[in-house]
Amino acid sequence: MKYTEVMIRYGELSTKGKNRKDFIGRLAGNVTKVLKDFPEVEIHPRHDRMHIVLNGASFDKIDKRLRKVFGIQTYSPAIKVPKTLTDIEETALALMQETFKTGMTFKVNTKRSDHHFEYDTNQLNSMVGDYLFDHMDGLKAEMKHPDIVLRIEVRQDAVYISSQLLHGIGGMPVGTAGKAMMMLSGGIDSPVASYLAMKRGVEIEMVHFFSPPYTTEKALAKAKELTGILANYCGKINFIAVPFAEIQETIKEKLPEGYLMTVQRRFMLQLADRIRAQRVGLAIFNGESVGQVASQTLQSMVAINDVTTTPVIRPVATMDKTEIIKLAEEIGTFDLSIQPFEDCCTIFAPPRPKTKPKLDKAREYEARLDVEGLIERAMTGIEITPIYPNEKFINDQAAADQELL
Ligand code: ATP
Ligand code: MG
Repeated sequence: MKYTEVMIRYGELSTKGKNRKDFIGRLAGNVTKVLKDFPEVEIHPRHDRMHIVLNGASFDKIDKRLRKVFGIQTYSPAIKVPKTLTDIEETALALMQETFKTGMTFKVNTKRSDHHFEYDTNQLNSMVGDYLFDHMDGLKAEMKHPDIVLRIEVRQDAVYISSQLLHGIGGMPVGTAGKAMMMLSGGIDSPVASYLAMKRGVEIEMVHFFSPPYTTEKALAKAKELTGILANYCGKINFIAVPFAEIQETIKEKLPEGYLMTVQRRFMLQLADRIRAQRVGLAIFNGESVGQVASQTLQSMVAINDVTTTPVIRPVATMDKTEIIKLAEEIGTFDLSIQPFEDCCTIFAPPRPKTKPKLDKAREYEARLDVEGLIERAMTGIEITPIYPNEKFINDQAAADQELL
């Protein structure tokens, strides 16, 4: 069908007043961003719903984008027709023929804001219903829980007809909750945590620690490419690469093995917090899951979290690995996450990290190092790259390597 517009209904309708305005404004901005390569499309936000006028753009393509926009509860593609009974009936029939499958029930649901239209809602419901029964076999009406609701809206300018109610991903428009730093590795968990943070309206910027020459360009490219997949949910994500080799080398050289991991993590968190302050973020997110590995026991969290009072939010804290993997598959990050490019943690991971590090020991060992100097030097090496939906980095690198050969 040649749909002419899409009607979007908002999620979390409890939001009122100024919050509601912000919600709608952000949502309109985010929809505009993800549809920016469709210049013909018009976006009209209103207080109760949003209309997207397609002006010839393909609904199927727009649909793929809208499915990933947080704050959309449901949406329906519709066809605009002139205000004559014939036009309404013929379009209703065409839509039903496309949507209907044997055994499905339906009802016609008419609304009008033009109260001067020659037919009222009851008349339209029954006339269009009769017309459909006359022209289709196997139809069954059902008022309470129909499979298909054929919606007819009589507005001032025209009549709008739709037969599908599609589910958006819900959540809050990205940006409504403010900005935070996301600690992104190349693993399975932190991309899922990123998705969940954005789902609650948080605008994230990725903080990624890398350790050349111990980690390869590919590991960095993988984290960037994961960011590209996640950018589908918001249009753009800034990727902040932080050099971490000097810190890791120093810790390995100077501190007892049992505390390598704890102190490394304390540095990561301090750096993430420094970057957060510079970029005026409100919180830090990471992909830790309670008890998953030595660095993620509650005792470890106590010994690591000690370096800041900034909220550290762990969206996957209580999820099982299988639950996290399921979500990773759904959001499209899993296949890339399991690619075997070592990140900076694996390289300097001690064979037996303490599962119950002591806070006072962690502080004491860390104090033996030039913490401020190490952090400042890492901060000067930071590189920030804006990353857009589905940008590729790994194969680009492979292609570049090829050229060098
Ligand atoms: P993930 O699957 O997210 O890598 P993980 O189960 O492998 O998590 P760890 O490697 O211990 O666990 O990392 C725990 C969390 O610490 C990660 O989810 C991420 O938020 C953060 N983190 C780990 N390594 C890095 C890194 N190189 N850069 C930025 N953050 C990191
Ligand atoms: Mg990891």
